[in-house]
Amino acid sequence: VAVDAALLAGVLMRTGERPHASDVVNYVPFTLLPSAVPRALFEQACTVQQDFNLLVDAVSQNKEFLEQTLASTIKVDDFTAQLFRIYMQVLEEGLAQTVFLGINRSDYMFDCGLDGTAALRQIEINTIAASFGGLTSRTADVHRLVLKVLGKTEEASHLLPNNPAKGLALGIAKAWELYGSQRAVVMFLVEEVQRNIFDQRCVENELWNRNIRVLRKRFRDVFEQGSLDASRRLYVDGQEVAVVYYREGYVPQVYDQQNWAARLLLERSRAVKCPDIATQLAGTKKVQQELSRPGTLEKLLPGHPEAVARIRATFAGLYSLDEGEEGDRIAATAIADPDRFVLKPQREGGGNNLYGEELREVLEKIKDSPERTSYILMDKIKPQPALNYLLRAHSPLQVSECISELGIFGVYVRQGQELVLNQAAGHLLRTKAIEHADGGVAAGVAVLDTPYLV
Ligand code: ADP
Ligand code: MG
Repeated sequence: VAVDAALLAGVLMRTGERPHASDVVNYVPFTLLPSAVPRALFEQACTVQQDFNLLVDAVSQNKEFLEQTLASTIKVDDFTAQLFRIYMQVLEEGLAQTVFLGINRSDYMFDCGLDGTAALRQIEINTIAASFGGLTSRTADVHRLVLKVLGKTEEASHLLPNNPAKGLALGIAKAWELYGSQRAVVMFLVEEVQRNIFDQRCVENELWNRNIRVLRKRFRDVFEQGSLDASRRLYVDGQEVAVVYYREGYVPQVYDQQNWAARLLLERSRAVKCPDIATQLAGTKKVQQELSRPGTLEKLLPGHPEAVARIRATFAGLYSLDEGEEGDRIAATAIADPDRFVLKPQREGGGNNLYGEELREVLEKIKDSPERTSYILMDKIKPQPALNYLLRAHSPLQVSECISELGIFGVYVRQGQELVLNQAAGHLLRTKAIEHADGGVAAGVAVLDTPYLV
């Protein structure tokens, strides 16, 4: 019943065997039952989202902070360095873009303290290509039906409405409108292999519903068909582009020389980039770690002491591995007690972090080399596991001990210096078996879930 409901609701993904075609599809893995989430922590995460929107937007406009924060990282991390070069190049030329659109997702786990109480701890904030806002708009209906079939009609009525797809489309539509050209289109910058296309279609179709035209193009299409006019308006395939919504571009492997050239062309243009390259840099793990230093939030958000306090309350321990005494000390602590920490490089998309023995080995090897500074260390969050069934095509049904990660979508639009939209746009709950340390839904580890507030 659950699988039929998921297929019927459109919780879909293309298959590994036919990743380029939609004629054979399957459901996206999901939990049989919703998972319990403490109501107070859920509400805390929703409330702090507008603050995080403000913060990301502030970081993206603060050249001095980005320069200082990433100085050590870009010496050793080529990918971040190349993003940073483009960032400096477009600043030197002068920005043609005047409208800014941020779509992010702040992810949290519920850390279980010694006394058994849970605390909200941010894992990271995704400022580029944050996914599953579309499909998660459809999973609550599936879980509602499952609960009813189980005779839990009352419980079914408690599941929250949730429609990030609409919220994200609202932001894109607002940016499109402020760009100010009826003819112009929204361009989704998509991957070569688009298995998660239905998630994107949810947002895309919301735009078509508003009579906004959407193009889907890859970097190489932009390289071949893209150009700027004298006032740096972007044209792709003969059409003026008002908004570029990146669902690609956050891992080094996608960039060859041509794709870097395409990225630079987009960044130089007047089109609203979601995100612009500064906002992508604001989402790096190194920035996240520097934000946790005492006094930094206060400097970035002067006049917002309450927002600063709400943001700080969600931070886990984060540690710099920059060269020097501070880095030496924390590296030694982590080598002695690796299970307390997670070692993170400047990468997105899951599967890059190091834990336990592997963390110890890698840190041992790089502790005296500059390579160390391409990583940060973070306290490991330890949530209370709960039992659930993870439904996956071709997999046997078995009960697993699971932990969940809550994401809150944020959307904001700024015109010049004026913030014209700042909202939380819904949530995403992902759940995985505890034996997996890392990895999201796209990586095949976590599955879609629905929070049941308790
Ligand atoms: P990515 O950009 O690859 O998504 P994340 O920081 O979100 O990087 O880490 C990937 C996954 O690793 C998370 O979804 C979570 O399951 C796990 N993880 C990350 N940080 C921690 C942490 N501090 N404690 C426990 N698990 C973590
Ligand atoms: Mg993540």
